[in-house]
Amino acid sequence: MSMHLDEKLEPIYQEVLARNPGEMEFHQAVREVLESLGPVLVKHPEYAHHKIIERICEPERQIIFRVPWQDDKGQVHINRGFRVEFNSALGPYKGGLRFHPSVYLGIIKFLGFEQIFKNSLTGMPIGGGKGGSDFDPKGKSDDEIMRFCQSFMTELYRHIGEHTDVPAGDIGVGGREIGYMFGQYKRITNRWEAGVLTGKGLNWGGSLVRTEATGYGSVFFVDEMLKARKDSFEGKTCLVSGSGNVAIYTIEKIHELGGKCIACSDSNGVIYDEKGLDLNLIQRLKEVERRRIKDYTQYRKHAVYKEAGNIWEVPCQVAMPSATQNEINGKDAKTLVKNGCIAIGEGANMPTTPEGVKVFLDAQIAYGPGKAANAGGVATSALEMQQNAQRDSWDFDYTEQRLRKIMKGIHELCYDTAIEYGCPGNYVVGANIAGFIKVADAMVAFGVV
Ligand code: GLU
Repeated sequence: MSMHLDEKLEPIYQEVLARNPGEMEFHQAVREVLESLGPVLVKHPEYAHHKIIERICEPERQIIFRVPWQDDKGQVHINRGFRVEFNSALGPYKGGLRFHPSVYLGIIKFLGFEQIFKNSLTGMPIGGGKGGSDFDPKGKSDDEIMRFCQSFMTELYRHIGEHTDVPAGDIGVGGREIGYMFGQYKRITNRWEAGVLTGKGLNWGGSLVRTEATGYGSVFFVDEMLKARKDSFEGKTCLVSGSGNVAIYTIEKIHELGGKCIACSDSNGVIYDEKGLDLNLIQRLKEVERRRIKDYTQYRKHAVYKEAGNIWEVPCQVAMPSATQNEINGKDAKTLVKNGCIAIGEGANMPTTPEGVKVFLDAQIAYGPGKAANAGGVATSALEMQQNAQRDSWDFDYTEQRLRKIMKGIHELCYDTAIEYGCPGNYVVGANIAGFIKVADAMVAFGVV
């Protein structure tokens, strides 16, 4: 099923497979970008000469470390920590930390690779990186989370810094974890260095809108795609998978723009609420009480919970996958298109399999790939870094306006680039090419480094 790779790119891809055995998600992310780059090499023969693509596929540095910690009963546990510093052509490595049992090097490398192009698209001075651990935060006490975060930072601190590498959150890492890690960094280094982490609390260097940014940003991106088709969110029925940070603020902004979200999910099941999701309830359950989405039906009796259900079977016009990688396969994509879905905005990283992407592109619906659609999170992290550098903090409206403008800019860049390369309406090609060129040009300028 896979699309054809240009004859210059096929051997590069084969080399990536051979050098990174068993890292399926990384292979998938690389292949998707390479599939877009054939015409770029024709226009820019200098990239091949300088081996830019081969260099971009090899992380500048990969750090893997032991993270020992003690649970509340005094038992010792060992997890594995990662930080992949992928590309620093455009700025310090920037990207989140993911704490989830599925984490291994292949996941961190796929995320780090995506982050290079995403960060480039934002137009902000940030390189690409990612990190995390196979630690499972589910069911852990606050104290256990704190001890884990402290142990994790006790190794990580020596690799990061405001001009070097700036981690943030991702799945399993939010404000609480960033707090524990910032505290440990400050203690070890004896530096109050705000710019070393983003997603900080508001009274210690954080930025307004950072919490909401990924969700709001993906809705802004979809709004731009709809506008380009003379349409809007008004009256649209929407699905938002997940119920974490990205999903919650996606739902909030969709409702603000006149759409109606009727389903969300977690890794156990799906909540369907035909009257429209009660966001306050979801926020209380998930953000405050850290409970499962199943409990929603205790408070909204008409709502339906389906254990192990498939959210993509619910008919909708706009779908915003905001949970995790590969959550929409080819069959799900066909179901969505058949049920009348006209727009997809990826709040998660690589939530659609290659088969699914092909279905959306063939159907010519508005498909906003993650590296463009969910770039608002990291873009607002860059705004947080700007405020930290200025020792200033901006108000909510101004910061949200900046985010809105950045998302509009990303949309325009992807849209125009797709036209320039003969694929109008194809945001995958637009995002991959536009994201790549900026990084490639910087790498050419720097010489062989
Ligand atoms: N983890 C987020 C992402 O996937 C945000 C990273 C950041 O803010 O550095 O882009």
